[in-house]
Amino acid sequence: NKKIIGLTGGIGSGKTTVAEFIEELGFPVYYSDVRAKEIVNDNENLKNDIRKLLGENAYDESGRYNRKYVADLVFNNDELLKQLNGLIHPAVRLDFENWVASQSAEFVFKETALLFELKLHESCYKSLLVTADDNIRIKRVMDRDDKTYREVEAVMDKQMPEKDKVKKADFVIYNNSNIEDLKAETEKTVMKLTDLVD
Ligand code: ATP
Repeated sequence: NKKIIGLTGGIGSGKTTVAEFIEELGFPVYYSDVRAKEIVNDNENLKNDIRKLLGENAYDESGRYNRKYVADLVFNNDELLKQLNGLIHPAVRLDFENWVASQSAEFVFKETALLFELKLHESCYKSLLVTADDNIRIKRVMDRDDKTYREVEAVMDKQMPEKDKVKKADFVIYNNSNIEDLKAETEKTVMKLTDLVD
């Protein structure tokens, strides 16, 4: 019986960094956002559904997803964005289930920004949140993505408030210090999680 641990955090929280430390510890990690970007190109059923919703121009002549075109189309059209997500999210869910079935480890991790938003934690054994103060997260994303303070803040404002996530999470890693501390904290938390008795 496999135990799925949902790993989440808002923009710039450090969840991907934590996921990489978890992989170094030997646990398999499924990266939902990365896979979502792959399956819009690989999953023929999904591609057909997206073409039906957004038109042929959603894909270029060689069949590659036209990310820029789609982004412009759904920008300021929340209903269309909702419909697009209504196609992509279930496809990722299915892809994750197939991935889980192919794993032999007892504990597997699912990294996703939307763990609580999509209620994915309800089908997890435990949830693990990575969080840090807003200012710190904004600065880290500005450095990483060459974005302005305002741009990062705008994304943050659309996400579920951190205090709500902290309430929902079974385990929380606070990432306000340096990378070395984050690594140590990750190791401690993962040991705790995987040592739990049923
Ligand atoms: P997003 O949702 O935006 O993809 P994320 O939650 O996956 O973000 P990361 O990409 O892991 O976050 O971290 C954001 C940036 O901050 C990265 O450039 C990462 O290297 C850096 N970072 C993470 N933790 C620390 C830390 N403790 N000290 C310094 N830099 C950090």
